[in-house]
Amino acid sequence: MTSPAGTGAGNAVDAVVVGAGPNGLAAAVVLARAGLAVQVLEAAAEPGGGARTAELIEPGHWHDVCSAVHPMAVASPFFKAFGLAGRIRLHTPEVSYAQVIDGADAAVAYRSLDRTVAGLGADGPAYRALMEPLVDGAEQLVDLTMNQLLRVPGSPLAAARYGLRALEQGSPGWNLRFKEDRAPALLTGVGSHTPGGPRRPIAAGAGLMLGALAHVGGYPIPAGGSQAIIAALAADLEAHGGSIATSAPVDSLADLPAARAVLLDTTPQQLLRLAGNRLPARYVRTLAGYRYGPGAAKVDFILSGPVPWADPELARAATVHLGGTREQIQVAEREVARGRHAAWPFTLVAQPSSFDELRAPAGRHVLWTYCHVPAGSARDLTGLITAQLEQAAPGFSDLVLASRAMSAAEFARYNRNYVGGDFGTGAVSLRQVLARPVLSPQPWRTPLPGFYLCSAATPPGPGVHGMSGWHAARLVLREVFELPEPDLAP
Ligand SMILES: Cc1cc2nc3c(=O)[nH]c(=O)nc-3n(C[C@H](O)[C@H](O)[C@H](O)COP(=O)(O)OP(=O)(O)OC[C@H]3O[C@@H](n4cnc5c(N)ncnc54)[C@H](O)[C@@H]3O)c2cc1C
Repeated sequence: MTSPAGTGAGNAVDAVVVGAGPNGLAAAVVLARAGLAVQVLEAAAEPGGGARTAELIEPGHWHDVCSAVHPMAVASPFFKAFGLAGRIRLHTPEVSYAQVIDGADAAVAYRSLDRTVAGLGADGPAYRALMEPLVDGAEQLVDLTMNQLLRVPGSPLAAARYGLRALEQGSPGWNLRFKEDRAPALLTGVGSHTPGGPRRPIAAGAGLMLGALAHVGGYPIPAGGSQAIIAALAADLEAHGGSIATSAPVDSLADLPAARAVLLDTTPQQLLRLAGNRLPARYVRTLAGYRYGPGAAKVDFILSGPVPWADPELARAATVHLGGTREQIQVAEREVARGRHAAWPFTLVAQPSSFDELRAPAGRHVLWTYCHVPAGSARDLTGLITAQLEQAAPGFSDLVLASRAMSAAEFARYNRNYVGGDFGTGAVSLRQVLARPVLSPQPWRTPLPGFYLCSAATPPGPGVHGMSGWHAARLVLREVFELPEPDLAP
């Protein structure tokens, strides 16, 4: 086969996907389901990218190396079409997430909006007025946020409702509707999943979307870990003739088999390295200006019992956020955005073994924690995160049997997409939401015929949703192969 894309090394296939992260595998599944011969090349020894589960510390204790909690496993249009919820077992706790404010004082987001409102005191009605329209219109909200923003929204009314709320919650007037600490802290915590500072419309918007999903499909935890999502994608790909080669880094075009299409689940910089002088100067300049955000520093624990939360309600939460009030979280996240370590960080905690018996031997628990740090930081945050957990759960330290820290610098070595430890594969800023990585109605397409980007560096951005891969693969089917979209159902 003559190929405008791959250079011709190895056996010819129809399409090559570089990178077996959730987006690369989503793209590969769509193409294989359309009847194409697909080869995935993955640099690491295992597929999965940001969705791997491993015995990081001791045999029999399974830790999610990156993603742990998966609202998108049920909300993502790609995973809905793929029927993920019917292919793997998902545990969906009654409490989606909670924010520890100070010791025993915590705000709780239940799956039930009514129950959440009831726990928010004087701010319950204000929280309901903010969230209920988003919860009721969750389908339109997902359609809006899981797509390229440069398009006419499916529901302009839903888009306006969401946009106005994101502007309000991302502005200095974000407290105007609230009187107490709990509701604002809850919203700021979920908005701080996006690093860079929560008081920005982009972070607030992402938070409102995740906050609404907390009251819709909840925050599922896959039985066996995030790797279960990857195993389901890989099994479907292989059942439709595709294959995944691991320990197969792609460092030059010569590493690519001949193919009509190449989809890159990589950073834009890797496209520059691969295609170099074959790309137009203007595109090269744009990609060279693509920016990365802060890094992540993680600490995994093995515990001899469940976390002794001061507020027992937190034992029922998929995710617990530490770090205090809205103002404290804002200070911490702004420090990190300015390139400094936060003295008391905003920390995310997931307690999968409280819901999934497959993660640890009976009586034992695994705990997953991380916080944002300056890009490239080599700091071990075990002491600081342990102190935060001790404040929210007195006696925590006595339960710690073992722990393992992974710094932002180690994350950067772990996955080439995590530049400086930024697992978003690029900063989530207003500019890089509109132009991810370029301002175009089809930002997945590159000027090099047959080459497409399909990673989280393309819309809709970070998260295990498979949507970037799905969008890119559908474009490839139309433009390169002139094939209709396949059915993805099991
Ligand atoms: C600590 C942490 C916590 C997270 N928590 C959550 C969470 O709870 N929920 C959630 O939804 N998301 C979470 N995420 C984010 C999520 O993991 C990512 O957004 C998601 O994995 C992005 O998918 P992707 O396919 O674009 O890229 P990745 O998952 O990064 O996969 C890219 C793959 O491509 C491979 N690759 C790159 N370049 C090459 C090359 N040149 N040759 C061959 N292979 C290459 C890499 O090795 C990697 O396997 C978390 C991430 C981290 C690190």
